[in-house]
Amino acid sequence: MSQTIRITKDYVSGVLTKEAEPAAVCRSGDTVVFETRDCYDDAVISEDRPLGDKKDAIENPATGPLYVEGAEPGDVLKAEILDIELREWGVMRSSTLCGVFHEDFAERSARIFRILNREDGLQYVRFDETLTIDLDPMIGVIGTAPAEEGITTDTPDSHGGNMDCRRIVKGSVLYLPVNVKGGLLSMGDLHALMGDGEVFICGLEIGGRVTVRVSVVKGRQAEVLPTPFLSCRGRVMTIQSAATLDEAGDMAARAMKDFVKAVTGKDNLEAGMLMSLLSDMAVCQVVDPLRTVRMEFPLDVLETYGYRLP
Ligand code: CA
Ligand code: CA
Repeated sequence: MSQTIRITKDYVSGVLTKEAEPAAVCRSGDTVVFETRDCYDDAVISEDRPLGDKKDAIENPATGPLYVEGAEPGDVLKAEILDIELREWGVMRSSTLCGVFHEDFAERSARIFRILNREDGLQYVRFDETLTIDLDPMIGVIGTAPAEEGITTDTPDSHGGNMDCRRIVKGSVLYLPVNVKGGLLSMGDLHALMGDGEVFICGLEIGGRVTVRVSVVKGRQAEVLPTPFLSCRGRVMTIQSAATLDEAGDMAARAMKDFVKAVTGKDNLEAGMLMSLLSDMAVCQVVDPLRTVRMEFPLDVLETYGYRLP
């Protein structure tokens, strides 16, 4: 029997590390609710005080970690994103240090946006007198503990982390590496909306509640998945982070090509051709300590060759 477990936003950290004490323990197949703070540690609550009210605010606090029984190094952790519920307001803040436009600003400013509900259940914000914008909630930070040194929650890498991939949404399935016993899954930094690149430095930052079903993938099925790996809206995606977009792009493309080869039996020539014909490269973000690129490939093509996602 599966059970539902809840991790409150009292259990947050600014680093994903194998040293962390688990906030909760679950079994493979359990459903877990993570309550998350926003990336400003819920400290920026007024446009009048853009620096916030907390002295020791954690940057990008991630809720967790969750210890998954039976998860061993070499396995893959499958996280089905069942729901992302947002609180009633989001916030954006300019930066004088980071982001493509940081030189535009001598000081930091914040804007608070109320989350509004339409009759059809969709949510939106009013940007100004002229414009309303529909939301597409996503998870900015989600990852497992790395095998070696801990990694701060501002940085994306092979463990996941601050990937800021706007395809990590309700209905997506994310596959992450298990580097240490139990996997130690954490998440936070929800965005009510974000465009590819996140050029300004933030999305519409918001706290909320994420419901995930967590299971352990083992053996050949796990070996073939180039984590972090995502299934979203009919496409599978490799997500890679590196010092430059060029490097991250090459890594994401190679990871997808090797995956296509492994699950279709194609050689380098045909797999390379399929990549050029059917695969789309997209920028996740250009504002974090490492840059992140994803490579998208249509899942139904892989299924034509008999592949089934675990
Ligand atoms: Ca982020
Ligand atoms: Ca963010």
